[in-house]
Amino acid sequence: MTRLERALKRGKVTEEINLLARYEHTIPETILNNVISGEIAVCKSDVRNIKPVAIGKGLRIKVNANIGTSSDASSIEEEVEKAHTAIEYGADMIMDLSTGGDIPEIRKRILDSVDVPVGTVPIYETALWAAKNSKGMVHMTSDDIFRVIDEQLAQGVDFITVHCGVTQAVVERLIEQGRLTDIVSRGGAFIVEWMLYNKKENPLYVEFDRLLEIAKKYDATLSLGDGIRPGCLADATDRAQISELIVLGELVDRSQSAGVQVIVEGPGHVPINQIETNIKIMKDLCNNAPFYVLGPLVTDGSAGYDHITAAIGGAVAGMSGADFICYVTPAEHLCLPSKEDVKLGVIAARIAAHAADIARGWTGAREWDDNMSEARKNLDWEKMYELNIDPEHARKLRSANLPNDDKLCTMCGEFCAVNKIGNILGVTRKE
Ligand code: SF4
Repeated sequence: MTRLERALKRGKVTEEINLLARYEHTIPETILNNVISGEIAVCKSDVRNIKPVAIGKGLRIKVNANIGTSSDASSIEEEVEKAHTAIEYGADMIMDLSTGGDIPEIRKRILDSVDVPVGTVPIYETALWAAKNSKGMVHMTSDDIFRVIDEQLAQGVDFITVHCGVTQAVVERLIEQGRLTDIVSRGGAFIVEWMLYNKKENPLYVEFDRLLEIAKKYDATLSLGDGIRPGCLADATDRAQISELIVLGELVDRSQSAGVQVIVEGPGHVPINQIETNIKIMKDLCNNAPFYVLGPLVTDGSAGYDHITAAIGGAVAGMSGADFICYVTPAEHLCLPSKEDVKLGVIAARIAAHAADIARGWTGAREWDDNMSEARKNLDWEKMYELNIDPEHARKLRSANLPNDDKLCTMCGEFCAVNKIGNILGVTRKE
């Protein structure tokens, strides 16, 4: 029986729900009721003994970091290090998107070395396996697709992105309407290439019940991927994107009826004024299932700084109701991210998530800021470093440019307003 089936059948608070309620500063009944309604998904399959992470209504917004090899760069050690860096800087989950080297071995190493939920996009491994063993990825069979999904979940993967909503009707609509950047999702591109070559419907859609059975076996969460997500501002919120979302909404119904937890993935590249609409449409069409956004990027011209562009979009998306933010690194659109890129991506996404948590009134979100403000008022530099999102970086910047009076900083020097007013109003300055 899955976690969702147990919650539906017994309606009882479990040890796991108590634990999650403590993490989230809420009462266990809130978690239980929202798991039952499908508005919260608890990510943790039955295979690994890790800390569960809950995503959804009323909870802290979670951050995911994508790591993984490519066909041009495939060091297992580096990817494991990136996973550790992502977690060190606060990522709640990791996705292994490897497409180069020994993919099952890389995944095993990552699964063995982290205690957070891990996600994958199984179609990558299937397509690469078929390219090697079946004379081309267009020759992969549905048995190949479901075999790899089963293998990955058996290995301990907690959630999988599956592009089930890329149907023939959706692809026809996309081709008919035209697009500036067509398809930018790797998984979406694999599926569409297969469908057009074989002139057949998407196996992940046709055999969705088979997918549900496999997910149930491990109590894994489905992340319904948006293979038709817009890859530029010009394509955002178009008919093709919304057509796929309508299909995903239907699949949310089917997943939840089958006792399988589900989250829904969203764009992508979206003008800032369309983000709220996107979240509202998604929530309305998908029974308020947890929404997982990649960014979204709010401008197309900032490669090298796309962690910032995505954080702007992520903050607006979170404020509008998105529950889970996938980081974007400075390497987006340019190359495979380095360890430093992973760090910067996680920090940017965490800032976005935290800003949105404050706006959503998540209990405990403001405490951090208020403590920092108190430390600033007291000119308590050690406390400020400790509370900073990146203490090491803050310490390094200040130490490189110390003021004459080391209780202040070089920004305003002797004209430090905090010090002046603190003295006038009698606030005790930390020595
Ligand atoms: S010198 Fe200026 S920036 Fe630095 S602590 Fe004082 S008021 Fe703040």
